[in-house]
Amino acid sequence: MYLLIVEDEPAVAQQLKELLEAEKYRCDLALDYKEALSLCDEKHYDLILLDWNLPDGDGLSLLKLLREEGDSTAVLMLSANSEVDDRVSVLDAGGDDYLCKPYSNIELLARIRALLRREGNQKNTVLSAGALSLDTKSREVFVKEEKITLSPTEFDLLELLLQNRNIVLTRYQLNEYLCQDYNSLKLSNIVDVHIKNLRKKIGLENCIVTVRGVGYKIS
Ligand code: CA
Repeated sequence: MYLLIVEDEPAVAQQLKELLEAEKYRCDLALDYKEALSLCDEKHYDLILLDWNLPDGDGLSLLKLLREEGDSTAVLMLSANSEVDDRVSVLDAGGDDYLCKPYSNIELLARIRALLRREGNQKNTVLSAGALSLDTKSREVFVKEEKITLSPTEFDLLELLLQNRNIVLTRYQLNEYLCQDYNSLKLSNIVDVHIKNLRKKIGLENCIVTVRGVGYKIS
C-alpha cells in the first residue's frame, strides 16, 4: 500500500511517516501544496493523508482539484478545524474521511485500515504495461494472457516499477526498497540480478528499460 502524507510541519510529517512505515506502508512526503500536487500527478497512491492548512494553499482546494481532474484516490483529511461545517465541506468536496488534530495514533491507523479496505474492495487492482499485467490483490502476473511465476521479491520489484510507470527508479531506490522489506544483505548488484531474472521471465523486449548510469523504468 502506497500512501502520500501531506503535512507542512516537518517534525509532525516525519513522525507520521515513521508511524506508517512501522506498519509496513510505503510513504511519500509532501511538505506543501505544490509538492503534493506534483506527486499526485506523477504517482498513483492508495491513500492521501491531507493536512488542511498548508503554507502555499489549503488541503480542501487540493482535494477539490484532484476530484475535478477525475482522481478518485481515497483522501483522509487531517485538520485542527473541528467545526461540523468543516467536516461537511470536506465530505462534500469528495473527501473520504476526516480526523481532527490532535488525534490518537490508534484511531488514525484504524481509519487508514478501514479506508484501504474499502479501496481494496472497489478498486481495480490490475497494473499493466503493454502485454504485461499484474494483479496486486491476487499477486498474479500475466504476459499476453499467460500466467508467469515470480518470486516474492521479483513481484514486489515489478509492482513498484509498474506503480511508477514512465518514472526512472534509481538502483539506490530499488535497493532500499528491497532491503527494507527483506532485511537482506545490501549487495550492490542485487537489483540488477532481480531485474535480469524478471526480464527473462517476462520475455518481452524493452519492457523494463535500463537508463544508463541511473536505474530502470517501465514505459
Ligand atoms: Ca498545517
